Amino acid sequence: MDKEDSYKVCAFCNVDLVGQSRSQEHVIPNSIGGRLKTAEFICARCNNTKGDSWDSELAQQLNWFSLSLGITRERGLPPGQLVNTVDGRQYTLLPDGSFSPKSSYSEELVDGKKRIHIVAASVREAKKRLSGVAKKHPTFNLEQALSELEIQTAYLDSPLTVELSLGGKASGRSLVKTALAFASYCRVPHREFGKALDYLLDAQAEPPYGHAYLSDLVINRDSKTIFHCVALKSDSDKNRLWSYIEYFGMFRVLVLINDNYVGPVIDETYAINPITGEEIEVEVNSNIADEEFIKVISGYGIDPVVQRAAADLALPILIERSEQRTLEGAVRAGFAYAAKTLGIAEGEEIPIERAKEFTALMMEKITPYLSHLIRSNRQHL
Ligand SMILES: [Zn+2]
Repeated sequence: MDKEDSYKVCAFCNVDLVGQSRSQEHVIPNSIGGRLKTAEFICARCNNTKGDSWDSELAQQLNWFSLSLGITRERGLPPGQLVNTVDGRQYTLLPDGSFSPKSSYSEELVDGKKRIHIVAASVREAKKRLSGVAKKHPTFNLEQALSELEIQTAYLDSPLTVELSLGGKASGRSLVKTALAFASYCRVPHREFGKALDYLLDAQAEPPYGHAYLSDLVINRDSKTIFHCVALKSDSDKNRLWSYIEYFGMFRVLVLINDNYVGPVIDETYAINPITGEEIEVEVNSNIADEEFIKVISGYGIDPVVQRAAADLALPILIERSEQRTLEGAVRAGFAYAAKTLGIAEGEEIPIERAKEFTALMMEKITPYLSHLIRSNRQHL
């Protein structure tokens, strides 16, 4: 085989990347909003047996961010996530940005009759649970219970506690895989994948990456935008090929791909807005001081001030977006409630004589959200 064509075989198992073995691998996992793909990195089998499980661990660690921002994916919505509030309650954060109380089931005896209390996170779950009750208790009136289902949207008055961490064996491999998938996309021969590839293939290998919070490596950062980016750069003086990866504006890592690099000169960056998938211009510093580079790769890359600045930049954008989506959701729910109550079908015009009534019904649904806003603003005072 011609070595220059190494991107035509799987970087993991050397199978030819043709026919069914050829798979379109996302450079940045699609589960967090990545779009760009390459078919020149690993085969379908290695992708399914290894790559996917690494990516899903990473996606799980970043799920709160994906849900709060409302990222779009190619297939399906992100799963809901259980979150805790500071005052100890649990909710499920749903893909539309709203919260639902944690599911619960309890039974009590009242005047010799059994009373069952169910809280379900979705209408689907509620229906499933009610059918379960009907099977167990033949006298239970399923039809009636279904018609009396009450849907409530919860607005949180207590701040959430969110774990802000990224890393571990599987997640770390997803990050390094992204660096190498992007290198494949940039047509760097697989034989130049050095230590980074060894790390992906050997469960005991030392991580070739480190968290990068000693300086802001993005030169043209716009403080109002958060993005995903992967940069690939070569340094011919040091025979180094390295990558910088940033997710959601606040998770930042450097990957030392190869420190014996003799391939072509590379300076490429790919960045997207994770909400829209649109590509954006991001410039990553090519001249990191050697001392800083080595510190980051050796695991000493966290300056709490820089890390805090990253969070201070990303979190307000996330929270604002999340609140905006909640408001839109409340308005949508209010509209649907008013239309249903007045028997107005979708797309049908609201008769002028009923407009006042319609607005009143809509406000009935939106008011809990507005009073939540007022209460949480008071808390900030
Ligand atoms: Zn393979």
